[in-house]
Amino acid sequence: MLSTTTTHAPGPAPLVQDVAFVGQLMESLSVPVFVLGTDARVMIWNRACEHLTGVPASETLGTAEHWRCFYEQPRPTLADLLLQERAGVTRQIYPRGPREAASGLSIESWCDMPRAGRRRYLAADASPIFDAGGRLSAVVETLRDLTDEKMAQVALEQLATRDGLTGLANRRCFDETLHAEWTRALRQQQPLSLLMVDVDNFKAYNDAHGHLGGDECLKRVARAVASEMRANDLVARYGGEEFAVILPNQSLKGAAIVAERIRCRVEQLQLPCRFATGQHVTVSIGAATAVAGPDNCASQLVAVADAALYRAKHLGRNRISLPLSEAA
Ligand code: GH3
Ligand code: MG
Ligand code: MG
Repeated sequence: MLSTTTTHAPGPAPLVQDVAFVGQLMESLSVPVFVLGTDARVMIWNRACEHLTGVPASETLGTAEHWRCFYEQPRPTLADLLLQERAGVTRQIYPRGPREAASGLSIESWCDMPRAGRRRYLAADASPIFDAGGRLSAVVETLRDLTDEKMAQVALEQLATRDGLTGLANRRCFDETLHAEWTRALRQQQPLSLLMVDVDNFKAYNDAHGHLGGDECLKRVARAVASEMRANDLVARYGGEEFAVILPNQSLKGAAIVAERIRCRVEQLQLPCRFATGQHVTVSIGAATAVAGPDNCASQLVAVADAALYRAKHLGRNRISLPLSEAA
């Protein structure tokens, strides 16, 4: 194990083979570094690594327990994988990687950091160290804390795809998802269903409860609609007090069942309407289904669902409506 004892005595310029000098060098680096020997035990755990993980070198040196500094559950570090020549399985363990670096491997990953007490998004680079005879003698892993950058990226992605009021997918995300699902439905020749959900008499609700009260109502309705979704469905705020639900691989019959469940769920919220005594907030829903083909397009699906929605309004609101040809 390398000694990292500090010495202040002046002396000749150190040789890189000088173990004490290498130890000092490691300690002075602001980059977190640890080194594993061929027995997978920690040889070096520098001060920056102590700072990052919250684990002092005295606890890790000479052990193979370094993974505990990063993860709650047993998981090989990148250095371990390189040491075991298991670079091939790295992709299963670290889906965001590995990138082949000049002489080793690189990954980016969220780490639990149990002792530091907060998750961090780390970039890791692991490189082999060979002795004069060309035999592997150790593996060095350097770490970079990219948490702030990652959080900023996630926030930007959220801004680009989420509606600020309800937290649902926004219109742009809806348009992109509908296009992608249409393409998939065309390829797989599966039905694609769409629901347009519109809050009834919402202008009057706003007038009676104020805009903030209206906002709160929209949030509650959004949560109720989202609660009826399966993993592959998408619910978006289409605009104003209108929501759109994409139901991949769903027949019109199935879509009608989901629509009725949503309608009931909103009614059961029992959000009182001050402008109509004894009444509660309700929604009207138009449904449409298509099997994608070369002669139709996704915007036709939206138009058919919209037409069905307006029929639901015309027939008295708080109801679902199917396309005319199906409803007969
Ligand atoms: P209908 O039953 O026919 O749908 O009637 P409606 O009153 O719901 O429809 P209309 O289109 O006349 O009014 C929609 C209202 O939704 C008007 C608009 O001020 C309100 N609205 C749109 N976006 C928001 C929002 O983000 N917050 C609030 N509070 N109100 C909104
Ligand atoms: Mg409305
Ligand atoms: Mg509307």
